[in-house]
Amino acid sequence: MADNINQIIDHKLFTEDDIHEMCVRLGKQLTEDYAGKKPLVVGALKGAIYFLTDVTRQMDVAHQLDFLDVSSYGNGFESTGKIKVVTDLSADVKDRDVLIIEDIVDTGLTLKFMRDLIKGRGAKSVKCCALLNKDARRTTDVTVDYYGSKVGNEFVVGYGLDFLNMYRNIPYIGVLKPEIIDKYAK
Ligand code: 5GP
Ligand code: MG
Ligand code: MG
Repeated sequence: MADNINQIIDHKLFTEDDIHEMCVRLGKQLTEDYAGKKPLVVGALKGAIYFLTDVTRQMDVAHQLDFLDVSSYGNGFESTGKIKVVTDLSADVKDRDVLIIEDIVDTGLTLKFMRDLIKGRGAKSVKCCALLNKDARRTTDVTVDYYGSKVGNEFVVGYGLDFLNMYRNIPYIGVLKPEIIDKYAK
């Protein structure tokens, strides 16, 4: 088991400064779009927590926070589409403007599930702000209303994004070494 960051990361994709710039830009946009709305900001556990704390502190809008943990069974590298609620929201979303904060949207199945769940409970609006958008991998038609950057078809780790449910605390976003993927993806 690799346990040192240098042993698993091939190269940096986004530095801490890059991430900060994305949060500032998105925060400004969200401030404009949610002015006067008091949204319910829903963090998708666990990957989005680092991004959520940074982007919401760039939002000059009164809002409330809640969290939702949905998980898909998989090998750790991609979702299977069989999604279930692990930890539900505590707030009632009826008639609320809900903003989902996600770490990354890949196939889109997880986001579609969350959007449908929240919309089905009577939310007034549901939008999503994701740090990263792997749009070339989408298998479902789902809108990512705001995102920090697009990424290609590579497995990224850090700033909330996990590898085997670890390494979320790496302060930047890096790409896993190919040999690590080969070793664990099977
Ligand atoms: P989707 O349902 O859109 O295929 O998958 C979304 C979830 O898969 C993300 O919230 C994230 O947990 C995980 N995921 C997708 N791509 C990556 C990636 O490149 N790195 C990491 N660490 N997780 C990913
Ligand atoms: Mg996620
Ligand atoms: Mg994961």
